[in-house]
Amino acid sequence: MSATSLTLPPLPVDPSVDNEIQAIVSGASTAETCNTDLAAGPWNFDARPGYGPGSSMGDVIPVGSPRQGELPAEYRDASPEELDARVRAAKEKLGDRVMILGHFYQRVEVVRHADYVGDSFQLANAAKAHPEAEAIVFCGVHFMAETADLLSRPDQAVILPNLAAGCSMADMADIDQVEECWEQLADIYGDMDATDADGLVPVIPVTYMNSSAAIKGFVGRHGGIVCTSSNAQTVLEWAFERGRRVLFFPDQHLGRNTAKAMGVTVEQMPMWNPRKPLGGAGADELESARVILWHGFCSVHRRFTVEQIEKARTEHSGVRVIVHPECPMAVVDAADESGSTDYIRRAIEGATEPTTFAIGTEVNLVQRLAAANPQHTIFCLDPVVCPCSTMYRIHPGYLAWVLEGLVNGEVLNRITVPQDVAEPARLALERMLAAKPPAAPASAWENAS
Ligand code: SF4
Repeated sequence: MSATSLTLPPLPVDPSVDNEIQAIVSGASTAETCNTDLAAGPWNFDARPGYGPGSSMGDVIPVGSPRQGELPAEYRDASPEELDARVRAAKEKLGDRVMILGHFYQRVEVVRHADYVGDSFQLANAAKAHPEAEAIVFCGVHFMAETADLLSRPDQAVILPNLAAGCSMADMADIDQVEECWEQLADIYGDMDATDADGLVPVIPVTYMNSSAAIKGFVGRHGGIVCTSSNAQTVLEWAFERGRRVLFFPDQHLGRNTAKAMGVTVEQMPMWNPRKPLGGAGADELESARVILWHGFCSVHRRFTVEQIEKARTEHSGVRVIVHPECPMAVVDAADESGSTDYIRRAIEGATEPTTFAIGTEVNLVQRLAAANPQHTIFCLDPVVCPCSTMYRIHPGYLAWVLEGLVNGEVLNRITVPQDVAEPARLALERMLAAKPPAAPASAWENAS
């Protein structure tokens, strides 16, 4: 299929972070971006180690992270209109054989082709609910595709269009470091399977959905559970019914914000830094701990500050500030509300009066919420345009490549979780489902295709 064989309609006029970045780089906009390399195609970074330009560009990428081979030139050189047309044509040919899932943080040029748009768990559930699809193209990051593979049928192929779309936060909890941490904790607490007089084991491991399948498998093997940003409190309650303490990874902020809201003091939440002996915490601190927080964070949500909130309040009387619980504690404390991406979406859609919202989460989602809800004034707290580096690695060029591969009978970039990891990882997910009903279904609010 080539550009000459297609009539190329103009692209829909959507709010596009990419268009904004192009305008900044060309000088047509006076706004600021965190890296002008964002204007280039992400394939320019496939051969280089690192997360690429964007919010996590300064994070340390683990040795051995999946790398993406070179995208064929016909996709790199194609215009946005041609790629859009090729994606639509391939999708039409494939029909029900393929399902495209788009995370809330994906660029609009990708999301417009998604059958379902949602957070990582909603999308994994969408994969589970469609056994008729032979292939699930997951426009998100690596751990999300792994979770979809865990929850989908074994004969369904889960495809990640760009293998370099990892997640720096998920990568901060490495399985070897977590195993080492568990051994060190056992030296302090003794038998990790033994219950005390109250029937509690010393530690229950809890991992955020934003972690590798290997970490979910570790948690499953050690009596632990997975949580999302929507159900973290329910999951912590489940864990405290079974354990004296919780080891929470990889996101220290979600762990701290959730446990603090439940009455756990900051002093009862020592940090575990895997590069230090005993995580850098004292044995006494670990003894009295209620939650041991892994030293991980999301570089997108770490950009939000109390000063940004103060500025928003000064400049917008009556502004309603909602931030994601992956933001630092001081930011969550200074906001009016905090909640998952779906919480933020529902809060905006549920506001009956025209309202000004200042939002602390990824800019692609904020801009689409603003466009979908013109009755409100909605803006991102961070004035610098700085999308998630790894979500940004999924570009329509990769989407066209994997879809046309399927049309030609070729499954590209399949993500498969090994069986020995998948079984305990599913167990940890099932415990979460039993602790709380499944999340709401993924949204069709932006299902434009
Ligand atoms: S927004 Fe943060 S947690 Fe989500 S994929 Fe990007 S780096 Fe990972």
